[in-house]
Amino acid sequence: MRLILVLCLAIPVLASAQTRAQNVILFLADAAGLPTINAASIHGHKAPRKLFIQRMPQIALSETSTASELVTDSAAGMTAIVTGSRTHNGVIAQSDAAVRGRLDGAPLKTILEYAEERGLSTGVISNDSLAGATPASLYAHVNDRNKTADIFIQALTPRAGDGVDVLIGSGRSAIERALMAARRPLPDLARESGRTVLASLRDIDRQGSRAVVLLEDNSFDIGEATRMAIEMLSRNPNGYFLMVESDAHTDSIRQGLDRVVAFDRAIEDIAKRVGDDTLLLFTADHSFDLRVYDGKWDAPLLAGVPAEMGSGAGAVTLRSVRMNDDHTGEEVLVAAQGPGSERVRGYMANTDLFHVMMSAFGWAGPATR
Ligand SMILES: [Zn+2]
Repeated sequence: MRLILVLCLAIPVLASAQTRAQNVILFLADAAGLPTINAASIHGHKAPRKLFIQRMPQIALSETSTASELVTDSAAGMTAIVTGSRTHNGVIAQSDAAVRGRLDGAPLKTILEYAEERGLSTGVISNDSLAGATPASLYAHVNDRNKTADIFIQALTPRAGDGVDVLIGSGRSAIERALMAARRPLPDLARESGRTVLASLRDIDRQGSRAVVLLEDNSFDIGEATRMAIEMLSRNPNGYFLMVESDAHTDSIRQGLDRVVAFDRAIEDIAKRVGDDTLLLFTADHSFDLRVYDGKWDAPLLAGVPAEMGSGAGAVTLRSVRMNDDHTGEEVLVAAQGPGSERVRGYMANTDLFHVMMSAFGWAGPATR
């Protein structure tokens, strides 16, 4: 009897403790709209609904408009997701008082900065440039996404905590050139910020808890990089926040869909490795104008796609797929599992995802206006 009483008292405590996340991983497939996800499943698995992200337990739709535009870019899109506030296209983590390239808005504190302030470890991985709009929205506050030097300088000179612990991404040459033009060469910036900037994943000290890897090439294994990052970030008993971006623009159709399939495999692998104390959240910052408009089960989806089709090819019409090289304004998929994921349901705003992550950690953030 006494045992039952003790259990009855303990269960609500345990249940509420389990709803807090120790760690949050945000997987961001840049430009992977619903049509892209549908096409990636058919392309990679010969059938719809075969991706892991399509089988995650919590599914919702996220609306992606900006403070002033119906169709977002990666800057305003990611700013909304990681700060809970809308701004304008081209602006990185600044309020909607910003005018792109001309006037600063107030800095918007990001989920990564909240995590740093609270003593968690943080990581950012991208197979796009580390000064690109998506990763930049977590650690930089600038009025124009093209301010490459300012963005990378802010990545290494943080406003919160000791800065991003694990930073892995590409764009090395362009970032080095921009820093040189800003009279802040990369070796000087690295020395002043006390960080060693590595050039290969192989150079990472696997026993360590921090690393900056600035790669030239964007074809590294994003799953391997994520596993290495989690190994390092997990050494912090306070937990971690990690964002992993994979570029899923399908202006190069086959490469874009292959990347979605590979990213999905990496997410499935990570889901098996992390404990049930980790919230996994998948979404896109905006959709993209790719459509499956025809096709048969026994014909490859991408029949007719040029083998060497690069990006920037403009509009393309194949037998089964049409692609117009533009972002589009319809809702995108949100998929989630783990503590706090029950809040991912129905039609959401992209700004809601910030509150999903904050409340998973048990934190209150500023209300979205
Ligand atoms: Zn984007």
